[in-house]
Amino acid sequence: MVVTLQHGHQATMEQIPSAYETALRQYDRAVSRMDIDDNAVEYLRWPQREFSVNFPVRRDNGSIEMFSGYRVHHSTVRGPTKGGIRYSLNVTLDEVRALAMWMTWKCALVNLPYGGAKGGVLVDPKTLSLGEKERLTRRYAAELIPVIGPQKDIPAPDMGTGPQEMAWIMDTYSMTVGYSVPAIVTGKPLNIGGSEGRNEATGRGVIICMMEALKRQGVHNNAGIKVAVQGFGNVGSHAAEYAWENDFRVVAVSDIDGGLYNADGLDIPAVRAYMKANRTLKGFQGADFITNDELITSQCDVLIPAAMEGQLTERNAPHIKAKLVVEGANGPTTTDADDILNEMGVTIVPDILANAGGVTVSYFEWVQGLNSFFWDEAEVVRQLSNIMVKAYGEVAHMVEEQRVDMRTAAQMVAIKRVADALTIRGIYP
Ligand code: GLU
Repeated sequence: MVVTLQHGHQATMEQIPSAYETALRQYDRAVSRMDIDDNAVEYLRWPQREFSVNFPVRRDNGSIEMFSGYRVHHSTVRGPTKGGIRYSLNVTLDEVRALAMWMTWKCALVNLPYGGAKGGVLVDPKTLSLGEKERLTRRYAAELIPVIGPQKDIPAPDMGTGPQEMAWIMDTYSMTVGYSVPAIVTGKPLNIGGSEGRNEATGRGVIICMMEALKRQGVHNNAGIKVAVQGFGNVGSHAAEYAWENDFRVVAVSDIDGGLYNADGLDIPAVRAYMKANRTLKGFQGADFITNDELITSQCDVLIPAAMEGQLTERNAPHIKAKLVVEGANGPTTTDADDILNEMGVTIVPDILANAGGVTVSYFEWVQGLNSFFWDEAEVVRQLSNIMVKAYGEVAHMVEEQRVDMRTAAQMVAIKRVADALTIRGIYP
């Protein structure tokens, strides 16, 4: 079926399960192999708190428009909640719930003292002027004040947001309480308490995981490995760059309009410069222009889906050529696609491990902010690598011990940490 979407694009609809359905299916699959108390299993299936807001924003032409947003705290069992805020036309409560749950597992997997949260506003940020974006962000931040705080819930960037939005949120919160609170958000610009290496952290973590996976498969010749990256936002563009810097052959990249393919490898710095100047990959010389679907099934050894949820599906999974998938995005693979790829012998390094570099450096930023003592980039990268490699090792160990795929293993490690914390804390009252 072909439908016309709100913003005019046409899309072929297939029955893709909702993000929250996918998150729950993954959870049920993991807990079915674990020996944990039934009450804990039921408790952790539910988001702890869900906050919905509808708020006005003054457009540049003077008119007022209403926007809807959410903030979901999935779990506070292991600490304050942590997770990004996204601006996108796909935002729904269901999606934010799924993303919050994944944050709980992600933080637990890399052993950060946080529970999971996520926020979102239903808006295409490209349709807002800078002033409109600032007013929308400040008003949404003001609406969130009852539920966020540096010891309570610490937002960060996600799809459609970045350091500038974090600066506005930090300022709005600080103006409200009457003093500067840098630790209210992470992913801030450097000059107001951001961390070295935060922008690049998720992409860097993805490539650390890719290299760990290849090393364990006995691959040592990076130049012989063809990498395709779907998505050229904060995660995809930095992942492509680190892969390129480490001599991998990045054969394909894409953004929302489609992608580029060159079997001999793309000049990633040139692609980044082109993207910066033109805000699209279309028209870049020296590569074939392909669709996003063609990228997913393109000739490559490693596929890095770094765009959004539900990209690897029952329909395209059988045609995927990569033997290794490293998930830069949250929830890019449906459970049906998971089954197909596992059956095909494809290794999937799951999102909660592969893209945990972002929240890990967010944690470093929060710690630096609370201590008012800042690290240099080398220190950030060293500690990030240690954490990622350790978590990878724990997941690999669980794969061996339980004979399960990496996603199930990663969820098992994470869920066990949260369930253990819940058991020792007990149920209140
Ligand atoms: N939005 C990022 C994620 O999905 C980062 C969250 C954070 O740094 O708190 O992991």
